[in-house]
Amino acid sequence: MTAIIIIAGALVAIIAGTRLLGNKHDLSDMEIHRKPFPAEWRLILQKQWPIYSRLPEDLRDQLEQLTLIFLERIEIRGVEGLEMNDEIRVLTASQACILLINQKSFFPDKLRSVVIRPNGYTATQHESYGGITSEKKIQVLGQSWENGLVVLSWDNTKTGARNAKDGRNLVIHEFAHQLDQADGHADGAPILGSPEQYTKWRKVCSRVFADLQRKIEGGEKTLIDEYGATNPAEFFSVVTETFFEKPFYLKKRRPELYQLFQEYYKVDPLSWK
Ligand SMILES: [Zn+2]
Repeated sequence: MTAIIIIAGALVAIIAGTRLLGNKHDLSDMEIHRKPFPAEWRLILQKQWPIYSRLPEDLRDQLEQLTLIFLERIEIRGVEGLEMNDEIRVLTASQACILLINQKSFFPDKLRSVVIRPNGYTATQHESYGGITSEKKIQVLGQSWENGLVVLSWDNTKTGARNAKDGRNLVIHEFAHQLDQADGHADGAPILGSPEQYTKWRKVCSRVFADLQRKIEGGEKTLIDEYGATNPAEFFSVVTETFFEKPFYLKKRRPELYQLFQEYYKVDPLSWK
């Protein structure tokens, strides 16, 4: 399978510590409202990203405003000969901002730039078990760094948008890492409000994470992509992709997890027709 890796310093193996005071990146109502969203940008989204057209009107308005804020605050640049244009900027920013609808807060302040490569690339990963080091080739489609840099493959940014029901979306995946990393820890728990919420988060996610690992080891097919069993940080990003792209199945098979993510993201993708 294709790997989407996160480079995040040390990955902590325990979901959800008891960090309560993360940064709040509040957006004022003034910022969220009423700047004109270009008609050509709407066309780009209608053509390339089915989820955009499925959104109820009020959420679509919010998404458009968040997209404008994103493009004001965050630099998106192309590398390896990729020339920047509105299609790249709008499709990247909007897919990221779907995570922020109804949140009244923005990505962490340290997120300043997004680098877009034309395609994914192959990298060598070194693994060490019991003193034996092995190398394996992995395909990297995107990265989210704790210092606030996100790298994306444009090719996969587009296909992730177009295939809106396969449970895979590169931009959603990498920006979910940014939410997880907002408090400085890539541990599978974003900033939550209360100790009770952290306890609930840990309880539900740990159970599903362990069950996912068990199923994969047993060769069973799983709804949540097996990459989510890599570690708690990947679990959070992969479940976020499933939540937005396969809400029906996630709710049916993992109702508690669906509810947890619905409470966190403050949206119900299942209700978007
Ligand atoms: Zn990842």
